[in-house]
Amino acid sequence: MQFDVFTLLPEVFPPYLDSSILQRARQRGLVSVNVHNIRDYTHDKHHMTDDTPYGGGGGMVMKPEPIFEAVESVLGLNPHQTPPGHACPIIMLTPQGRVFSQAIADELSCHERIALLCGRYEGLDERIREHLVTDEISIGDYVLTGGELPALILIDAVSRLIPGVLGDPDGAADDSHATGLLEYPHYTRPPEFRGWQVPEILLSGDHGKVDKWRREQSLLRTLARRPDLLEKSKLTESELEFLKNHGYQLK
Ligand code: SAH
Repeated sequence: MQFDVFTLLPEVFPPYLDSSILQRARQRGLVSVNVHNIRDYTHDKHHMTDDTPYGGGGGMVMKPEPIFEAVESVLGLNPHQTPPGHACPIIMLTPQGRVFSQAIADELSCHERIALLCGRYEGLDERIREHLVTDEISIGDYVLTGGELPALILIDAVSRLIPGVLGDPDGAADDSHATGLLEYPHYTRPPEFRGWQVPEILLSGDHGKVDKWRREQSLLRTLARRPDLLEKSKLTESELEFLKNHGYQLK
């Protein structure tokens, strides 16, 4: 899986991409991330990538020319062809996009290549959104100073779904949101810490009981913290009964 990131701040990517699981995935050729500096696609003396907004007001707006040129040349698009025959999704990170979720990460993990456009300042000239971008993603209802952290979040969430990236092949299957529920609580050694015990059942070695306990914990946790998720998750009759006994009211 290949990511092509377009940014004015390429230097913020390596520290994260060169650590831990993403570094290993890249070394093993499962994921590659090419970071392109939009400034390299300017042709004026001052390498301008932004300008004042038409109509006035504060802030700066990122100019269309270097972004179109960068994306077209890296993805090999023909600017004279309409529609330009996109080789892969061209995603703009913006607080105005569809809100990122595990379902969107799943959807994106099916692509071989994804381009990510990171804004700065007030954002990008609208013509980029209208004529170059194929998808818009927000990482939540708040505003950051740039699209670089959102791009890293997307790369991280999508990469860990690619087979072989996580050490444990089932690692992603039980995660919160993967099943439509929040994950059960985890414990590790020691069995007692400051007088606080690990639940007895986890030490029992009885896998059937452990699985049942984990599923129930997952259901209870979701009921307590995110009951909205229960409406969308696939539950068996007995799970629904269990939840009802714990105060869940079906809508
Ligand atoms: N004026 C814009 C916000 C600009 S923030 C507006 O009101 O919509 C500057 C850049 O940060 C954006 O272009 C975008 O790339 C990035 N950004 C900020 N918040 C974000 C979020 N919640 N999700 C994704 N990208 C975000």
